[in-house]
Amino acid sequence: MHYSYISHLECPKCHEIYSQEVIQQLCECGSPLLVRYKLNELKTTFNKEDLKNRENNLWRYHEILPVKNKENIISLGEGMTPFIAMEKLGKKILIPNLYMKDEGIIPTGSFKTRGASVGISKAKELGVEQLAMPTNGNAGAAWALYSARAGIKATIVMPVDAPSITRREVYLSGGNLYLVDGLISDAGKIVGKLVKEKGIYDASTLKEPYRIEGKKTMGYEILEQLNWEVPDVILYPTGGGVGIIGIYKAILELIELGWIPANKLPRLVAVQAENCAPIVKAWEERKAESQLWQNAQTSAFGINVPKAIGDFLVLESLYKTNGCAIAVSEADILLAQKEVAELEGNFICPEGAATFAAAKLLRQQQWISEDEKVICLNTGQGIKYPELVEIENVPILQPEDTINR
Ligand SMILES: *Cc1c(COP(=O)(O)O)cnc(C)c1O
Ligand SMILES: [Zn+2]
Repeated sequence: MHYSYISHLECPKCHEIYSQEVIQQLCECGSPLLVRYKLNELKTTFNKEDLKNRENNLWRYHEILPVKNKENIISLGEGMTPFIAMEKLGKKILIPNLYMKDEGIIPTGSFKTRGASVGISKAKELGVEQLAMPTNGNAGAAWALYSARAGIKATIVMPVDAPSITRREVYLSGGNLYLVDGLISDAGKIVGKLVKEKGIYDASTLKEPYRIEGKKTMGYEILEQLNWEVPDVILYPTGGGVGIIGIYKAILELIELGWIPANKLPRLVAVQAENCAPIVKAWEERKAESQLWQNAQTSAFGINVPKAIGDFLVLESLYKTNGCAIAVSEADILLAQKEVAELEGNFICPEGAATFAAAKLLRQQQWISEDEKVICLNTGQGIKYPELVEIENVPILQPEDTINR
């Protein structure tokens, strides 16, 4: 048995093939590249049961991850996050089989850590010494910290109004931190120039092929935690879209391995904020690609992405699974965050809250029916965004005061 069954890289647009032995960024045609594995060979030797005694993190799936030499793995124990029944909230919004995959419980506090662990391990394997990336915050934090562990120098550019904790995470890691007075797309332009002029490894969303491999493990875990029973609906807060593309890729791979049936795909839902909904607009118009969203703004910072380079892959995952895209309001995001805390005791991030707001709407519209098994992705810790919670009417006491409720 090999540690990894990685085979090659493939362009999903023009189908050009690339070697995985050397550094690759985008395809010649401008599309992101996807990692392919020798699944046919694996099919006969790799079984679900093999996972039983493995380490409780995402590297339990190492055969279908890209790192060939175990020594290159940079890990802080990320993955196998909690899978939680949301009984009280489910009852309230009439989805009794409502679950949450909780990515708050992971190093650095967001699921971006999955992409960082796999992306940086592979970068190390390929001999990368310096990388650069634009970020809305969480990815930069995860990549800066994991880069520090790998001994790779990281240059991180983020908007000035990204959650301030993520700025501190990068700073503390010793990475080169830059703030830009603009959006993630502006940060991207600056990183683009740096990469071009200095030949630094471009770790921007989907411009290297391995981040998605880390994120796809959310799909493997959901299925494993459901004992390989395919759920009906998975809702995902979609920004750059790597998570949803990854979950779709994971499902196709599991089908190819013969671990889940080919005749039932979960319907994937891309959830966006009303003030930044390019994927929703494209989906409503049945387009293959999205258009740049003007004046994007939402408190759910991780999904404040006006134009995603992998938009066509996100849309494909929706069309192919009979899924949909839906936008939710800022008020509904905050309301859902409060409901989850009050009913379920979990302080989730606004992006995660958006998926619960969307589930409620889709149930009202009958797009989700009462008997369906529905999974919401909470992509990060609520405590990374403390300023979002406004506290009103908290009594201030004097030491001699008494309280009676
Ligand atoms: C980045 C991010 C998202 C969006 O993820 P994509 O995979 O880029 O679509 C959602 N939630 C949080 C908390 C994030 O940091
Ligand atoms: Zn191509």
